Amino acid sequence: MEPLIFEKSQPGRRAYSLPALDVPTRPLEELLPLHLLRQQPAELPEVSEPELLRHYVRLSQLNYSVDTGFYPLGSCTMKYNPKLNERVAALEGFRALHPLQPDETVQGLLQLLYELGETLKTITGLADVTLQPAAGAQGELTGILMIRAYHHDRGEPWRRKVLIPDSAHGTNPASAAMAGFEVVTIRSNDAGRIDLADLERHLGDDVAALMLTNPNTLGIFEREVLTIEHLVHEAGALFYMDGANLNALVGIVRPGDMGVDCLHINLHKTFSTPHGGGGPGAGPVCVSERLRPYLPVPRIIHRDGRYALDWDAPKSIGRVHSFFGNVSVLIRAYAYIRMLGAEGLQRVSRDAILNANYLLSRIRHIYRQPYPETPMHEFVVTAADFKSLGIRTMDIAKRLLDYGFHAPTVYFPLIVPEAMLIEPTETETKQTLDAFADALLSIADEARTNAEILRSAPHRTPVRRLNDAAAARVLDVAWQGRTEAVEAAPTS
Ligand SMILES: *Cc1c(COP(=O)(O)O)cnc(C)c1O
Repeated sequence: MEPLIFEKSQPGRRAYSLPALDVPTRPLEELLPLHLLRQQPAELPEVSEPELLRHYVRLSQLNYSVDTGFYPLGSCTMKYNPKLNERVAALEGFRALHPLQPDETVQGLLQLLYELGETLKTITGLADVTLQPAAGAQGELTGILMIRAYHHDRGEPWRRKVLIPDSAHGTNPASAAMAGFEVVTIRSNDAGRIDLADLERHLGDDVAALMLTNPNTLGIFEREVLTIEHLVHEAGALFYMDGANLNALVGIVRPGDMGVDCLHINLHKTFSTPHGGGGPGAGPVCVSERLRPYLPVPRIIHRDGRYALDWDAPKSIGRVHSFFGNVSVLIRAYAYIRMLGAEGLQRVSRDAILNANYLLSRIRHIYRQPYPETPMHEFVVTAADFKSLGIRTMDIAKRLLDYGFHAPTVYFPLIVPEAMLIEPTETETKQTLDAFADALLSIADEARTNAEILRSAPHRTPVRRLNDAAAARVLDVAWQGRTEAVEAAPTS
């Protein structure tokens, strides 16, 4: 293995040259309390500029990214992120702003945020919006807190249940539970849609809301959405839609027309910000008239040709993020939307659906569709048929890495055994889709002729099969200080 940067360290080597200090300074002890000062200089590697550069470039090459290859991670919408967005977000006029500047001096940013909000209202067909939440999950919590405020305001605090289909993303029940609600699971039917009879059975005056994902996490459109909306509202509950799958709908249908009261949008998915590994993101929430009074403050308003922050909303649930939210993600989404325009955005959704259906048509004779419906922008297949060969979905996912692809989402949604949730997105060429389909078919052959190569995959990655959960939760990126310590550390 290439020596670590600490091991290359040689006293006196420097990767930088700074100009001499040209401002008066004072001894550190006068600036900071003595007990906070380091007694010994930090043990930093001393390397030359080329060595430093190679270190970071090498590290970056150990990663897989959407800029290096196909990334069909279902539900996550890992589309190509146009580099124009990065340029725009890094413009001096945005980058150099301070979050505490007075409103009068940030009119341009406020205008951008206001217009982004108006655009999202147009796209979703809903009455109002907050841009504050920093992720889909935080958008969900924001929405559910507004729904709680709504029922309390109407004198119905006994509405303590939130209904959620069994195919939902795990953040839905988590958000409802965090807001103090009791989560009730609604079954899916044989077509992979919400079971209407089960929904009706659970609706009543103790229900605060239904949280529905549409298209759902099987990639299937909830065709009965208008009936669902009717049933939910008739029971006095509100209709929450998880909008993470908006990439299938933009420019085609509007959640507002489906009677939705509350919808979070994952800007980092649908409207293209590099995401993954926990950030960055933005999860704006759009609401119907019913929930408008409860939106977070401050709200950006446009009055007499000026943009301002309005705190005057007595029923608001309050602030959910400091300053204006994750501004750089909001700027990227704005640039992306303006670049594509209404027609371009509709094409995004149409092409996303086309790509998913094309890819499915190439593999479904081998990888079975548990719910054989025409999917939208993503689809679920199962590898359960490979179990008799001693092969699990995880083996196929790991083998895909050897073929140079990122694996799809696996073992989700939970209602499908040995699930693979595949979302190609609209930004991939037919050649890439074919190459991926060929890889999956070739792996299916290997499962029959050389199962061991799947079970021991991956073979060509910087690290082999890791304990994914531990790698994410017991993260240890610190250099142990000595080569022996590194070698002694357990490697999984
Ligand atoms: C991604 C996703 C979420 C959560 O969004 P984050 O931005 O990751 O918090 C919620 N629901 C669905 C269906 C998703 O795909």
